[in-house]
Amino acid sequence: MNETKKVAIVTGASRGIGAAIASRLAADGFTVVVNYAGNVAEAERLVASIETAGGRAIPAQADVSDGAAVARMFDAAQAAFGGVDVIINNAGIMKLSSIADTEDALFDSHIAINLKGSFNMLREAAKRLREGGRIINLSSSVVGLYQPNYAVYAATKAGVEAMTHVLSKELRSRDITVNAVAPGPTATALFLDGKPQAVIDQLAKLSPLERLGQPEDIASAVAFLAGPDGAWINGQVLRANGGVI
Ligand code: NDP
Repeated sequence: MNETKKVAIVTGASRGIGAAIASRLAADGFTVVVNYAGNVAEAERLVASIETAGGRAIPAQADVSDGAAVARMFDAAQAAFGGVDVIINNAGIMKLSSIADTEDALFDSHIAINLKGSFNMLREAAKRLREGGRIINLSSSVVGLYQPNYAVYAATKAGVEAMTHVLSKELRSRDITVNAVAPGPTATALFLDGKPQAVIDQLAKLSPLERLGQPEDIASAVAFLAGPDGAWINGQVLRANGGVI
């Protein structure tokens, strides 16, 4: 049966939105490669829970900013499952700072993981994805909101959106769609860590639905684009944010 299943690599799937996406795609029938950077215990726990639920998954350590490591992860997926059909470029970091106060290390890490990491995955996917494949990049609704202190992070996500549009055209005739999902404030460590409760409450009220997004809200949007109902959506950015912008 497994040869007929579509194979999805989800980067940054040990926690947060990526873990919800991996669980949802597995429930939808995809074989899932659960990528992580350092959090092996969380990745293995997620793989075990997917398999307990009757799905198929393997953990795959790779720092997405390392192009050789990304290529090895594709090799491993191809060796284990025969090919790759879907990639979800979800791995990312967000550290907030005004431009005046931003140190080189913060700037460089965002470029390396959010922008180069996405690029490394896109380059391999462009070479290797099977016909009928899907590419989904995680952007952010800060591209549009452009709040103070988000400049470097927003710049990397604007770059991800640019690559989304360009790659959708470069893959002409391959029957592969390329889209981005741009969440708003979503209840994960990336968003919550270091923020006072009052700030969290204020950001939760940004949406007319008056709550934070949950990882499953974002996974639903990704699953739509990865599944049969998303087949005619290509080169688009879908803001999944409860209406903040
Ligand atoms: P989390 O901080 O909760 O999780 C980040 C994940 O990325 C972890 O699995 C982590 O792995 C992985 N990761 C970090 N660096 C690397 C790396 N170099 N290589 C491989 N994996 C890496 O983040 P979220 O779930 O909140 O965010 C997921 C995506 O959604 C990001 O792209 C983010 O920018 C975007 N987003 C999030 C929003 C939010 O409000 N939460 C809003 C808009 C967009 P490990 O556990 O091993 O460290």
